[in-house]
This record gives sequence, structure tokens and C-alpha cells, in this order.
Amino acid sequence: MLLDAGAVAIRNAVAAGEVTATAVCEMALERAARLNPGLNAFNHIDADHALRQAAAVDDRRRRGEPAGPLAGVPVAVKDNLCVRGMRTTASSRILERFVPPYDATAVARLDAAGAVLIGKTNCDEFAMGSSNENSAFGAARNPWNPAHTPGGSSGGSAAVVAARCVPVSLGSDTGGSIRQPAAFCGVVGLKPTYGRVSRYGLLAFASSLDQVGPFASNVTDAALALSVLAGPDPMDATCAHEPVPDLLPTLGDGIVGLRVGVPRAFVSEGVDPDVRAAFDATLDILRDAGATLVDVELPHARYAIPVYYLVATAEASSNLARYDGVRFGHRADPSAAGTLREMYFRTRDEGFGAEVKRRIMLGTYVLSAGYYDAFYLKAQQVRTLLRRDYEEAFARVDVVAMPTTPTPPFLLGEKADDPLQMYLADIFTVSANLVGLPAISLPCGFSREQLPIGVQLTGRRFDEATLLRAGRTLETRTSWHAATPPVA
Ligand code: GLN
Repeated sequence: MLLDAGAVAIRNAVAAGEVTATAVCEMALERAARLNPGLNAFNHIDADHALRQAAAVDDRRRRGEPAGPLAGVPVAVKDNLCVRGMRTTASSRILERFVPPYDATAVARLDAAGAVLIGKTNCDEFAMGSSNENSAFGAARNPWNPAHTPGGSSGGSAAVVAARCVPVSLGSDTGGSIRQPAAFCGVVGLKPTYGRVSRYGLLAFASSLDQVGPFASNVTDAALALSVLAGPDPMDATCAHEPVPDLLPTLGDGIVGLRVGVPRAFVSEGVDPDVRAAFDATLDILRDAGATLVDVELPHARYAIPVYYLVATAEASSNLARYDGVRFGHRADPSAAGTLREMYFRTRDEGFGAEVKRRIMLGTYVLSAGYYDAFYLKAQQVRTLLRRDYEEAFARVDVVAMPTTPTPPFLLGEKADDPLQMYLADIFTVSANLVGLPAISLPCGFSREQLPIGVQLTGRRFDEATLLRAGRTLETRTSWHAATPPVA
């Protein structure tokens, strides 16, 4: 079925007039409606919006206008990206009825490329979490086994691609929220270089770390999606002016001579044996394909978790101050609220979930007078040391390889009551955000329980092309990416 064939195949079929965008859209809507009750991966499926967009693509084709690079490709976006006229909640009660008056730049670019937006995907509240259990609307489930987490925070976006409801979706990645769910669901997830994709219209969590990026069932589709999303945007001053290379022609060039750094000491501890075996096997495949493995050291990587949870919470406490019940979102019942102060307190108490409150409190604490130097400032200093670690590594290698996660997908409920255990699951992903580098997660095997495992490659600033080329090389030598979960 065409939905399983991926974005490039769908685009080509629509452009050639072999199938209409409307017919593809109907397939995606049918599959989404059938699978979502079990997956809880969509917060909102918008058939009217999708069919309107598909009809517009078909009209343009009939008029002989050029088909866009994603013409007729069904997509879904994480529910923290604004879509004009479509409910956008960040999986929070505080935005339960929020309808944005504008599109995020990433969403507008998908639209301009001819993509057909099926709906908004479930995530942890304000993207804070690693399991999707912090959603106000219940956790999304892993298509490979519904007792397990699809990962987080962009769990819904990973699940809908794994279940082949859509070939491409968008997520945001602040500390691993694209790569970790991609690994857990057996799909490709790419966190671009900080500044590669505009953050305009992304509901901010931690602004110096947040990046928008794609999920796809294969590397070619991920490259196509990034080429649509990337590039400067006058609406986001942190969006880079760096030229975007054509990512597709070099995908098949292979990796002869590529130097792959392996931080052996860092990845030696606390890694599940199945993950270790899949990682080691992947390194062998890279070597067989012509790469050279080089030992590298990232001496400060072991501080990445505390640094991340200081910087991210500090920025979150500031970013989330805007949700006060005055301009938009939930407002506590004014008749019960009393004074203005009480209205603020009640609004935030009713609107935010426990993890978001925990982070606002942590972040406010680490920024407060007397603690700023000991926590926030110290974290920023260690962040600089971490950046130097990576600069030294990239003087000797072209990419750095690690497992994406220390374990296969854990059970829903397994870590839900233990925030520290949950935070530790991000050990391999948070560094790329702290130093702003691009990183990709690629399917690289399965655990004994038949749950997906991912490998992560981190690259030089703005060198997504090398990550994609290495990923494509792995795809030609393995078939992990072609496996589909039982539900699909
Ligand atoms: N799991 C990390 C956190 O809870 C990362 C989340 C993200 O990347 N949005 O903060």
C-alpha cells in the first residue's frame, strides 16, 4: 500500500497523476482513525483540514502547476507547533482550548511544499518528559507493544510514523525528544543543528536548546523533510543564515574514509546488553562500509544530565511565566478566584501538571539570587567545557556514534514515579542540544522482547548531510528500518 512506501514514493505518484492527494489523504485518515484508539498518538485528527489541503494540491496539479517536494504527502505535527485555526495544546490543560491565529514557520513550509496535515500528535506536557506519560491527555503507546512507552516527549509523532499512518511527522527536541522516541519506535529521527530550522510558532520550552525536526520511516524521507524545513526565517532571530545544501544527491555516496568517533568510556556504563550488542554490530557495519573507528573522549559528558536539567528548567521557568490566564489559555473561574494574584495562582495550579510545576520550581530556584552562581552559572560554565570536548573530538573525527538510549523502550509506569530515573534515560541525547550540534537516531536492531533499538550519530555544526549519508549507508546494509510493527 502506498502509505507504506514513504514520502518520496507518494510525492512521485501524486506528481505523475497516478493517484490523487485526496485518495492518499483518505488512506491516511482511515488508518489514523483505526489505529489511534489503541495508540492515543493523536491529540486531534482534523479530516476537514486535511481533505481541504489535499483538494488544493489536486487542483494545482490539474491546472498544471508544479508539484511541491511533498505534494500530497500526509504529515502530522507535534501538538506544540502552532497551526492556524487548529487547536494547539502542548498536551496541557492550560492550553486545552487554545487556537493559534498563525502557523509555525515549519508548518507553513510543509504546507507550501504540498504536504497534507492530518492532525496534531500527543506529547509530554510542554515537551517535558521522556515517556509521554506527562501528557494531560494520557500517554501515547508504543506501536510495537502498547504496554511500552513510545518515548517522549514527541512520542505521538514517532508512533504515527512507526504505525505508518503518515510517512513524515514533526517533533521538537530540547534534550532528545525527537531522537529518543525515534529509537523507541524504530524510525528515523533528526535533530538539526540549533538554528537550522525556525522555531517561530513552536511553544517554547528551553529556547537555547529547542529545535524542530522530522521523523520518517527512512533516511531519504528525513532528508527530503529537512530540505523543506531548513533555512533562514525573518521571524526567528536565532534561525541561521547558513545555506542549505541539496541533501538528496549525496545520500548514496557512501562513507569510505569517514572517521567515526566512539566515546568508549562514556558509553561503557549502564548500557543494557541488548543495546550494547546492537551498537557494537552497527559499528562493525560502519567499518565494513569503509569508515574508520576512532576512540574519542568526552570527559565532561558525564555532567550533561545535571547541566541540562539546570539550564532547561531555568529557561522553562521563564518561558512558562506567560501562562497566567490573562492573554490566552485557561483562566481560573473569576467568581471563585478573588484577587488578581489569586487568579494567577489558581490558573497555574489548575492548568499545569505535576512535572511542569516541578520544573518551574526547580528553574526558579536555580535562577534565584544566592543560588544563581552555584547552579545556573556553574551549569553554563560546564556547558562550555562540554562544547570544547566536542570541538576536540571533531578535530579528529567526522561523526560521533553512541547508542541513542541506554535501554530499549521501558514499560509505561516503570519510571513514572521516579523523576530522577526518568531524567537519567536522557544521558546520551542531551549533549547535542547543550552544544547545538545536529544528531540523528537510526533503527539498528531489536531487543529480546522485539522492541526497537536506535543508534545516534552526532555531527559538526550544519553538517546534517554527513549524518544522512551515513544513515543511508546503514540502510543499504541492514533492513531494520523496513520492519513494521504488528499493528501496521
Ligand atoms: N526528556 C527530556 C526532558 O524531559 C527532553 C525533552 C525534550 O527534548 N523536549 O526534558
